[in-house]
Amino acid sequence: MMQSAIAIAAHPDDIEFYMAGTMLLLKQVGWETHYLNVASGNCGSVQWDAARTRHVRRREARCSARMLGAHWHRPLCDDLEVMYEIRLLRRLAGVIRAVKPTIVLTHSPQDYMEDHMNTCRLAVTAAFARGMPNFQTIPARRAIENPVTVYHAMPHGLCDGLRVRIIPEIFINTTPVHETKRDALACHRSQKEWLDVSQGLDSYLKAMDGMSLTLGKMSRRFRHAEGWRRHSPLGFCAPQADPLREALANGYKRNRKYTSWRRVQIV
Ligand SMILES: [Zn+2]
Repeated sequence: MMQSAIAIAAHPDDIEFYMAGTMLLLKQVGWETHYLNVASGNCGSVQWDAARTRHVRRREARCSARMLGAHWHRPLCDDLEVMYEIRLLRRLAGVIRAVKPTIVLTHSPQDYMEDHMNTCRLAVTAAFARGMPNFQTIPARRAIENPVTVYHAMPHGLCDGLRVRIIPEIFINTTPVHETKRDALACHRSQKEWLDVSQGLDSYLKAMDGMSLTLGKMSRRFRHAEGWRRHSPLGFCAPQADPLREALANGYKRNRKYTSWRRVQIV
């Protein structure tokens, strides 16, 4: 059976900023990929009302998912309404059981805003609950047994909400797919135009370039990179599981400066 990966982010354009390069590479080696923004992006405009913004941003996200070759999933709620609550959790767990992913890509547990952090918590628990028959999903779906490895993207600005630097455990070389990643980000034209006016031409695309060049520099090997940290394997997968390493061997580098789960001694 074809292996699948799902990217679960908060807003339309977050996947393109932090995760899309890795998704494109997985797609190239034959994986099925899925694209889900939990929130609709309805607050991402100062000129249009919520309904119009929601509509425009859905169209942009679908354009981007198509460019990434990923299956698009509809958002589950509106901006700033991403709460760690049971109904959202049941719906997201329903998606996980349908997709049966080997890999879940999601936000960093520490990030600059609550929608990102709550999306991360929802994604982690939805993946955790995949095999629990007594946990009911919406719609009702049977529990699945697949192991799943959860990878956290880098937070925006590579810092947590208290300005502390976060370093990645893993670098993925996104240089070969950077142009496509950029094109996918450019699908979010409403955001680009808004920021062009407030922050200068193409600032939106340049911000993404800057982040991936910085991570590339940190890797000391790649020009453009995305950074990832693995979630604890407990309840998810085998202790050493690292399906990104298996899938993307040549474009994968472990960060020696990262103190991983396996290096911590419990006394
Ligand atoms: Zn966001």
